[in-house]
Amino acid sequence: MKIGFHITTSKGFHYAINESIKYKANTFQFFPRNPRGSKSRKIKNDEISKFNEGLNKYNFGPVVCHGAYTMNLASNKESVRNNSIELMKDDFERIKKLGVENYVFHPGSHVGQGEKTGLDFIIEGLNSILDEDYKFTLCLETMSGKGTELGYDFKQLKYIMDNLNYKKVGICMDTCHIFSAGYNIKNKFSYVMEEFDNIIGINNIKILHFNDSKTEFNSRKDRHEKIGLGSLGIDTFKSFINYDYFTNIPIILETPNDLEGYKEEIELLYSLKE
Ligand SMILES: [Zn+2]
Repeated sequence: MKIGFHITTSKGFHYAINESIKYKANTFQFFPRNPRGSKSRKIKNDEISKFNEGLNKYNFGPVVCHGAYTMNLASNKESVRNNSIELMKDDFERIKKLGVENYVFHPGSHVGQGEKTGLDFIIEGLNSILDEDYKFTLCLETMSGKGTELGYDFKQLKYIMDNLNYKKVGICMDTCHIFSAGYNIKNKFSYVMEEFDNIIGINNIKILHFNDSKTEFNSRKDRHEKIGLGSLGIDTFKSFINYDYFTNIPIILETPNDLEGYKEEIELLYSLKE
């Protein structure tokens, strides 16, 4: 299994690998820039080779790059859309240099313009910066649907995927988000997986975000809880861990934990494997 947690790469990518290993992880997720959307750090020349050495040495990764939360490709303001496109393009160039295989991002919020308008802006923005020469998989994240957030319905994600010229597109399924969005993975796990398979295709899930939820089913809220301590409960994670297709899918923890807490959660998840 590949399990890791969100970690800072401010001290270098190689350092992030070593830190992850100390806490039992064999992958990680990172922000390419300050998550509030500011400038990105310059990658040093020897950093890329050291990073790749680390990946090979420890059979580590694939790792996951997560786009800044402040970006909104679906905004009602042209300046926000353009700025988001620029930041994302910069992220793409950055992970191209590093050879990172997955880019996860939140599709966007339509801010009252209507879902169809928002979805079309997302498609337009992505089509303008994605280039078939890129090697990474673009992963749309399943969202909770808070506010005017898009991507809470599998059909919306499918619509975006179908309209992108770029073909290396997949899904990052977030356990907290889909439960909050009204997909009952706690009581009807197989049913939800079948529904996903029918609409998008299960083999399009490339990344899993493992988070329990502080809020009840269908709350349309996005509040992560530690594994097993929220409304999802440990059995839901057991279902995921033992679902055949997910055996080799990187699992990223975004739970409210310190490093020791992540280590305990990773050990807990391994213990769920039957
Ligand atoms: Zn996310």
